[in-house]
Amino acid sequence: MGFNILAELERLRTEIDEISIKILNLLNKRAEVVKKIGLEKEKLGIEISNPLREETLNSILCKNNKGPFSNEAIKRIFKTIYDESKDIQINKDNNISNLKIDLGNGIFIGKDCLPIMIAGPCSVESEEQLDKTASFVHETGVKILRGGAYKPRTSPYSFQGLGEKGLILLNKYAKKYGMLSVSEATTIENLKFVEKYCDIIQIGARNMYSYPLLEAVGQLRKPVILKRHFSATIKELLLSAEYIRKGGNKNIILCERGIRTFETSTRNTLDISSIPILKKESYYPVIVDLSHSAGRKDILNSLLLAVLGVGVDGIMVETHINPDEALSDGNQQMNRDEFFDFMKIFQKFLDLGI
Ligand code: PEP
Ligand code: MN
Repeated sequence: MGFNILAELERLRTEIDEISIKILNLLNKRAEVVKKIGLEKEKLGIEISNPLREETLNSILCKNNKGPFSNEAIKRIFKTIYDESKDIQINKDNNISNLKIDLGNGIFIGKDCLPIMIAGPCSVESEEQLDKTASFVHETGVKILRGGAYKPRTSPYSFQGLGEKGLILLNKYAKKYGMLSVSEATTIENLKFVEKYCDIIQIGARNMYSYPLLEAVGQLRKPVILKRHFSATIKELLLSAEYIRKGGNKNIILCERGIRTFETSTRNTLDISSIPILKKESYYPVIVDLSHSAGRKDILNSLLLAVLGVGVDGIMVETHINPDEALSDGNQQMNRDEFFDFMKIFQKFLDLGI
């Protein structure tokens, strides 16, 4: 008797295994069709997400549902299938970290490229400050100069940036030292100026959720650095990138810059795991802004090794000729000597050719 019950259990388990494999094959067959639909939608410029279509399919499923699963249970199961299907349509090339972006001046980022360094002041403050900072940044071999002109400051009474004048200076001194330039756009209006004067457009953490701004960047073709909001999940960052890609601009570089946690010893908590995950789940190059992650200079050399170790495509840091007098983020900007030490470590890593 006991033996028979066990044998029956074994038989039922085998039956479940066989049915599960059939479901698996059908799910993947469904996913192949989903991929094809994604390609057709792209050709027609149609939105990937279609809640109406999901509702129609749900009502067909409910009409055909003979139980024992309730209609509600079926809807929950299919919700997961719909969500995963959207991801398949978004990451059409499936597997991935394969984009190589031409930044200009013969500089590339991404697939098969060595990591790049982006450095410069938090804010463009004056001719003298930018010239002297760009000069020592250039001396170390850095090819991309950063500098904020439209500063998203927590307090409206803090220095807000020089605006267009700042961009003109950034353009002038990047050219003087043969570097590319990157600066942040905070609105659709100032995006026009950032596009005009800079080689790379930055969308800051605070604007990762500014969908109209992301759509406007999607209409351009210049490379864009999209920073992760300090409260955004990896998935939300990827969906924000999708707002840009959907408009036709595929030149997207994702930037981890730390997230907010209960920890107070750093300005933000650098989410190291996001780097390999973003590279696995998207085809975009991934960089890390170490300065805004840490908010302090004394651990940057260690963090540099950590992010290089997990395979970043680039690093961004803030540097200033005289950080004590900086109009923004004075605590986290490296001076000349500190930056030279930092770059020695970076160069050693590059020399290893890993
Ligand atoms: C910046 O890079 O100047 C900046 C403001 O960074 P974040 O958007 O990451 O805070
Ligand atoms: Mn800053």
